Amino acid sequence: ESNAFQCDEFLIDLENVSFSYPGQGQVLNGLNFQLRKGERLGLIGPNGSGKSTFMHLLMGLIKPDSGSVRLFGQPMEGEKDFKQARKRLGFVFQNADDQLFSPTVVEDVAFGLLNNGKTPKEAVALSKKMLQALDLDGFEDRITYKLSGGEKKLVSLATVLVMEPDVLLLDEPTTGLDEQTVRRIVDLLNDLDMGYVVVSHEFDFLAKTTRDIFAMKNGQIRFQCTSDKFKPAG
Ligand code: ADP
Repeated sequence: ESNAFQCDEFLIDLENVSFSYPGQGQVLNGLNFQLRKGERLGLIGPNGSGKSTFMHLLMGLIKPDSGSVRLFGQPMEGEKDFKQARKRLGFVFQNADDQLFSPTVVEDVAFGLLNNGKTPKEAVALSKKMLQALDLDGFEDRITYKLSGGEKKLVSLATVLVMEPDVLLLDEPTTGLDEQTVRRIVDLLNDLDMGYVVVSHEFDFLAKTTRDIFAMKNGQIRFQCTSDKFKPAG
C-alpha cells in the first residue's frame, strides 16, 4: 500500500495516477484528485489535456498504468469493484446521443430502473416524476431521436438522476446547447443535493455551478482555485 493513511470523507480519491493510450505519450501524468461528499468541483483545461480520459478512468472504462483509484472508500482493483462503484456514479456523457438509445423518452429514463429490478409500473412512475422535476412534463412518449439537442441533454440528465447516484460526473455538459438550456442546467445543478465533478472549457459555467475549479495541464492538475477567483490569465 502506497499510502499509510486515508480520509473517510473522500468519495473519489486518485493517487498518483498515470495513463497512456497504446502507442501514445503519457496522457495522465501522476494525477492526484479528491472529491468529498457533497463537493462540487470543476475541471478545466485546454483540448487534449486529459479531461475526458480522467472521467473515463473514474468510470473504470480505462485502467491506470500506475497509481491508485479509490471510490467510496474502496480500492478499485478490478472490473468487479468498478461495477459496484458505477452504481453510485452518475455519468453524463458529453454527447447525449451516447446516452439515449430507446425509441421513447420514458423508455430511456426507465431503463436503468428496470435493470435494477424495479417493476415496470414503479419504473414508469419514477421516470414521470423525474421528467416533471426537470420541467419535461408530457415528454414521456416523445420520440427520443426527434428531440432538440437541448431536450436530449435534459433527458440524458433525467436518465442519470433518476438512478439517484451519490456523485454526478458531467463531461462538457454545455456543448452545443443554447443559452436557455445552459441556464436550465445551471439552475438544475445548483438545486441538486449531490456532489459532482463537471468538466467544461467554459469557466463562466463552472463559476456558476462549482465551488472549486481544478486547472488541468498536460495530464496533471496544475492548481486549484475557488471558482469566484478563477479567471483567464493575462
Ligand atoms: P480533453 O478531454 O482534455 O480534450 P482527452 O482526454 O480527450 O483530452 O485526450 C487527451 C489525449 O489523449 C489527447 O492527446 C488525445 O488525442 C488522446 N486520446 C484521447 N482518447 C484517445 C483514444 N481513445 N485513443 C488514443 N488517444 C486518445
